[in-house]
Amino acid sequence: MMNSSINRLTDEEIKVILRAADPIIAKGGRTLLAKILKGSREKKVLQLELDSCPVYGYFKDDKLDGIMQKIDWMINFDFLDIEYYGKLPMIIFTERGWHIESDQIAEELFNEWKEWINKGKQNPDMSYLKDRNREMVLLLLEKIKASENQTFIPYLELWEKVDYKKVRDEIRRTILVLNGEMPFDDSIIKERAKSIREALKGLEMQDLLLKCWVCGERFTFTIDEQRYYKSKGFKNPKRCKACRKEKDDVFFY
Ligand SMILES: [Zn+2]
Repeated sequence: MMNSSINRLTDEEIKVILRAADPIIAKGGRTLLAKILKGSREKKVLQLELDSCPVYGYFKDDKLDGIMQKIDWMINFDFLDIEYYGKLPMIIFTERGWHIESDQIAEELFNEWKEWINKGKQNPDMSYLKDRNREMVLLLLEKIKASENQTFIPYLELWEKVDYKKVRDEIRRTILVLNGEMPFDDSIIKERAKSIREALKGLEMQDLLLKCWVCGERFTFTIDEQRYYKSKGFKNPKRCKACRKEKDDVFFY
């Protein structure tokens, strides 16, 4: 049985594991995620170019088993989840995990722009931002507004040419804010920072009280049972143990 006896991960470790999970969401499982963090040179890791992930090898001094425990902690505390695609258990973000990760990615893109400016990069192809997650892209624009940095404007103008209307409108507002033609409302950024601090606390798994759809009795679906069901890709049980037994149904305990 998986256990959650390891210590609480630090905020940085949580962010690192979320970042490592990003390129393999719904495409890879716990083991592949652990290998990215370990800095494995395995063929699959290299084929998928996972060695270019900024946190590749972050836990290179840890044993793979120890890294797996950290990943399981992330699942137990509602940052990551497992979803089955056919028979394959794949890592996905929970809402909480994505809330933190989307900010992290927006920050990464923002820093890339700053680097471009330092290098004097001109006319970058901005279509790479099209079809990215909308929430994340709007967050990037908030960060740009907050920067008060007018040197971003040429990139914004290029981006404005290639994106959809709703994003275009926000790009335009961002340009107006940077030009001082529109006031900047920092409440979105502040609210976000606050909610990320909240999200980083995680949510420990709890016993669930479910209602049996045969006899109508409430029954406890324990943490251990939940972990077991999750590891097998089963949905929550609909019947209490007695009714499962009665029906000679799948019975695990
Ligand atoms: Zn029942």
